[in-house]
Amino acid sequence: MCGIVGYIGHREAYPVVLKGLKRLEYRGYDSAGVAIYDGKNIKLSKTKGKVVDLETRVKEEISDVGTLAIGHTRWATHGEPNDVNSHPHYSNSGELVIIHNGIIENYAPLKQELINRGYEFKSDTDTEVLVNLIEDVKKNENVKLGKAVQVALNQVVGAYAIAVFDKNKPDEIVVARLGSPLVIGVGEDEFFIASDASPFIEYTNNAIYLEDEEMAIVRRGKKVKVRKIKDDSLVDPYVQELQLNLEQIEKGGYDHFMLKEIYEQPRAILDTFRGRMLANEGIIRMAGIDDNIEKFLNANRILIVACGTSWHAGLVAEYVFENLTRIPVEVEYASEFRYRNPVITEKDVVIAISQSGETADTMAAIKLAKSKGAFVFGVCNVVGSSISRETHAGAYTHAGPEIGVASTKAFTTQITVLTLIALKLAQKKGTISTSEFHQYLSEMDAIPAKVEKTLTSDNHVKTIANIYKDATNFLYLGRGYNFPVALEGALKLKEISYIHAEGYPAAEMKHGPIALIDEQMPVVVIATRKGHYDKVVSNIQEIKSRKGKIIAVVMQGDKTIKNIADYVIEIPETLELLTPLLTTIPLQLLSYYIAVMRDCNVDQPRNLAKSVTVE
Ligand code: GLU
Repeated sequence: MCGIVGYIGHREAYPVVLKGLKRLEYRGYDSAGVAIYDGKNIKLSKTKGKVVDLETRVKEEISDVGTLAIGHTRWATHGEPNDVNSHPHYSNSGELVIIHNGIIENYAPLKQELINRGYEFKSDTDTEVLVNLIEDVKKNENVKLGKAVQVALNQVVGAYAIAVFDKNKPDEIVVARLGSPLVIGVGEDEFFIASDASPFIEYTNNAIYLEDEEMAIVRRGKKVKVRKIKDDSLVDPYVQELQLNLEQIEKGGYDHFMLKEIYEQPRAILDTFRGRMLANEGIIRMAGIDDNIEKFLNANRILIVACGTSWHAGLVAEYVFENLTRIPVEVEYASEFRYRNPVITEKDVVIAISQSGETADTMAAIKLAKSKGAFVFGVCNVVGSSISRETHAGAYTHAGPEIGVASTKAFTTQITVLTLIALKLAQKKGTISTSEFHQYLSEMDAIPAKVEKTLTSDNHVKTIANIYKDATNFLYLGRGYNFPVALEGALKLKEISYIHAEGYPAAEMKHGPIALIDEQMPVVVIATRKGHYDKVVSNIQEIKSRKGKIIAVVMQGDKTIKNIADYVIEIPETLELLTPLLTTIPLQLLSYYIAVMRDCNVDQPRNLAKSVTVE
């Protein structure tokens, strides 16, 4: 939620910050703003809307000269998305300027106290409270900015990544984090500040990821000083070398990041296998699992915690794990889990899934599980993310940066990693035979090519999208491994096209949703040949009898369903357990094309943001 960018060095800061904001816009796009400092005057411009709107406004309103700048792209939590609530925010004196990602939970009593002391507020944000609190401490205690930030943050409850500078200190930006990500790019006599590394990747590969409860003073021409916010102790900053490159974060000829990312799935799945699965030799090697194999094998149960699309990947994993390993699995929404006093024991293994590795509710669920003695394993995409550092062990999905807000390649690579883990455990436990294990491995090995083949349905799916683009409701049905795929298909459509859609286990239809069926209702049915096929065929007949329209995702060569469905989309033959990796693909394409045809902003759907770093 929300992207923050900053620059201090020898270059003109505004172009760096502006480009950075464009790259971080996936994190929030309710409003955008920038403050540029040339050592004499602070020039601040902000506006409701996108970064392109900010660009226009900056041209009209201010001089963009200066070698220090901070910028923000907002996902509003406190105060509606309008110009005034946009960041950056000034303190009352006009000397301090702040950008903030997160929520100051105790902003109301702090604000009241500041009002009592004569402070005035222009915006409804929690952020403006924080910058004035810093100012108040600075004045009352007669301390420098860094100290004032530290003292103020010790009074704050909530989550933040902040960057703040002081008009009296033209060579310095102070940053801090708790619960929201913040990384400092370290160049030659210049520094970059950002929510993730994408804004500065063409300038430097060296980065310091701040940990929770750390702050840093970033000073022109000096070494970065990192301290603990609580006890003021100095921390030796670890400068990490990044593996990211520029092509990975650009659109590469596709109209949208989402389409690019859908098409990257064969490569992303292959990268997720790389070094882990040696199909010909019958080997799965995963350090995070191998080093902790006893924890998994002795687990009473596996608890999977996640949100959104990652939760759907967790549901697929539940079917896969229980079938292959016979270890009981429960899948929970992280947000519910953390607040419902769940029973967790030391014999539980918790798997936390999050693309960004920053999801606030999942992080809180991990901390809760750890406090009860459970072993916690992370499945994240973003290397070095908070969740990957908070968990005892983990496995990355090597999907590469996912910029489109609607998750695609993160989902299929999460399923890939989880399936590899389940196979490894099943092999160790002996719950599948050696020949079954080899068969799974060789079918897994074939999946990237089969995803590639499935992508050739693109034009056909586009035609179907054109027919149903004006529907107001959609139903998605699946059974077994493909029930979570139905949920994910419905979510994808809702997220980017704003069409109401529901996912159901096909057999549940008779317990309610069938009442919705009429000639206007498209029903997407995942009907792979081995997954309770006859039952799904009956479900399709029931829908047809009520004049519903059927779009069926079937296995190659299926004739029965072709005769009854309005449209079929074929996927290549594979083992039933692996079908989610293929059936998902046409559903992603369907929602993508429908959203494009409805003129929706595919990569930045309304009200959403990529990584949900607030509760
Ligand atoms: N709570 C702040 C606001 O609403 C920051 C939200 C964000 O992370 O973008 O302005």
